[in-house]
Amino acid sequence: MPIVKVSRRGANRLKDGHVWVYRSDIVNASGIAPGSMVTVVDDREKPLGTALYSSASQIAIRMISAEAVKDPSALLRKRIQDAIAYRERFVGDTDAYRIVFSEADFLPGLIVDRYNDVLTLQILTQGMDAAPVREAIVRTLREELQPAGIVERVEARIRELEQLPPLASGLLWGEKSSTEVAMNGVRFHHEGLGGQKTGAFLDQRENYAAAAEYAHGEALDAFCYQGGFALHLAEKCSAVSGVDSSRPALELAEKNAALNGREVEWTEANAFDLLRDYAAANRRYDTIVLDPPAFAKSKNDLDKALRGYKELNLRALKMLRPGGILITCSCSFHVSGVDFLKVVADAAQDAHKSVRVVESRGAARDHPVLLNVPESSYLKCLVLTVSN
Ligand code: SAH
Repeated sequence: MPIVKVSRRGANRLKDGHVWVYRSDIVNASGIAPGSMVTVVDDREKPLGTALYSSASQIAIRMISAEAVKDPSALLRKRIQDAIAYRERFVGDTDAYRIVFSEADFLPGLIVDRYNDVLTLQILTQGMDAAPVREAIVRTLREELQPAGIVERVEARIRELEQLPPLASGLLWGEKSSTEVAMNGVRFHHEGLGGQKTGAFLDQRENYAAAAEYAHGEALDAFCYQGGFALHLAEKCSAVSGVDSSRPALELAEKNAALNGREVEWTEANAFDLLRDYAAANRRYDTIVLDPPAFAKSKNDLDKALRGYKELNLRALKMLRPGGILITCSCSFHVSGVDFLKVVADAAQDAHKSVRVVESRGAARDHPVLLNVPESSYLKCLVLTVSN
């Protein structure tokens, strides 16, 4: 197996339990083909384990094992079996959940989501994109899970960053790409080749249930997408309105409402403008959900992102009646849990509201955080109540 030598700093990072080595900590990787499986050694040639090498990413090395790997497809199978077993143990009340979450399942660059009988996969690195690896992934998923279809969702920007040739999303195996799923008893249409991400925001599934537990009265779900929160709120609230800027998302949201026999008022709008108008018109709510897209895609966007979160949370807090509930989320990795709490606290201060934290939550259990890899923790979800 080809050998990549890493600096002392890179080696220390691995010894601390992280699984990445940045390009700046590579001492020697000359002649190594993009996406190769490599043996990683420190500056004294001591082996540190086996990794996938990327010639393009700043993350040059992603570890797949602390040992030498003799049979890559057997390792892949074992990792996928372990990932399935983890979900069997910790995930319940749904047939839609993430089965493989990249580094957090020791399969860096691979994401597999299960939507009932349809599997959706995303391949994010050169190592996972190699033809024999792809074949082994599809074969193993078929054998372990017997799906009716396996869909690949391609993010063009990621392939470009990894210097991989362009590829279209499509069925990799079987005939079925659309299906129906249930989360916490709420049903959803799933279109494997439509929508954002792999179709749904599965990381919010447990937060939907938490939101439903506290929701009451008149509710607003800003950034509602296909109605994940809104439809859960509809079980508890007297009236729910969902807002999103994407028409196709709202069309599916409406179909989902019909599937559950619920009524939600859907509005296509920019949530920033709408919240401003509603606040100016003195609208009041008992429950508000804020789940905007990641505002900080990189560290450079941090200030702008914080201003965005502050504005949204300020407007929402002003519109909540006493006893009202705010469920506010951030999926920006670059905004830490501490930053997020601070920005919401600033918003409460500006809104002249006393606010208590009822729950501080993260992603659902099928999106585990690998303790020594802080990058695997990104979703923040605060459940707050306003007392005046
Ligand atoms: N809460 C949803 C996920 C929201 S993802 C769920 O659990 O399924 C973020 C959503 O914000 C996307 O649907 C996107 O279309 C929408 N969006 C992005 N910018 C927006 C804006 N300025 N106003 C309203 N919606 C916006």
